[in-house]
Amino acid sequence: MVYKCTGCKRVVEIDSEYGGVRCPYCGHRVLLKERGTIIKRVKAE
Ligand SMILES: [Zn+2]
Repeated sequence: MVYKCTGCKRVVEIDSEYGGVRCPYCGHRVLLKERGTIIKRVKAE
């Protein structure tokens, strides 16, 4: 999952949300889910 830190504005990639997400660069705890990077799997028929 890709997040954007609201503290340092960096894009952070975090595999799991277990234990809460935290920015590894500045330690900020408020990260927004980055939009537009979500991979949608559409079943093609
Ligand atoms: Zn940050």
